[in-house]
Amino acid sequence: MARLMIVEDDPQIGQTLQRSLQLHHHQTTWVQNGSAALLQATRQQFDLILLDLGLPDLDGFDVCRQLRGRQPDCVLVILTSSDQEIDVVVGLEAGADDFLSKPFRLNELLARIRAHLRRDAGNRGTSTVRVLRIGDLEIDPAARTVRLAQAEIAFSTKEFDVLARLAAEPDIAVSKTDLMTDVWGENWYGSSKTLDVHLSIVRRKLATTARELGIAPPMIVTVRGWGYRLQAPMG
Ligand code: CA
Repeated sequence: MARLMIVEDDPQIGQTLQRSLQLHHHQTTWVQNGSAALLQATRQQFDLILLDLGLPDLDGFDVCRQLRGRQPDCVLVILTSSDQEIDVVVGLEAGADDFLSKPFRLNELLARIRAHLRRDAGNRGTSTVRVLRIGDLEIDPAARTVRLAQAEIAFSTKEFDVLARLAAEPDIAVSKTDLMTDVWGENWYGSSKTLDVHLSIVRRKLATTARELGIAPPMIVTVRGWGYRLQAPMG
């Protein structure tokens, strides 16, 4: 049984979500504002949080950031009121793992939750994988750390998973479908925007650290119409 929190001020959506999640045997807490969500997050560990960004008391992105700080291992899914690209990007940068645009179909939400929870449970057993080295980049899947020329770079869970997946097969183009399936879960049928935003954050973090160190950043190449490839440096 998974522990879920719904943060949603719209009573109709909140009630519907709570009822259907409970029907699917999830232990569900529903709160209607940001302060209550933050309070709950100090009292209880959640497996997954559904967070509406438009809250009556606090800024949704701030709440997202603070929830991520309090519960680093929790899966955080933001609900945006429309398909506003900027909200999605800011939300993912604030630490969300995924997003869903309203209005969404309940079946889609339930499928995503299932995929996330299964993925999360699967991740816990993978602590014996070898350290990956590509040029100056060193990824330790067991410790979940990334170092570039010894400088440690902090990544969120999904950012790390995407990078580690690419690093497992350097110079090989990995399809978006494979990345989505391996990082976000089986039977994924959402858009690839979540992946694209995570990739751009990973690229930016690598580039920023590389610039500070005065070295060339590891290249994540976009393979048009296909996916991405982590390129090992020449020589
Ligand atoms: Ca709202």
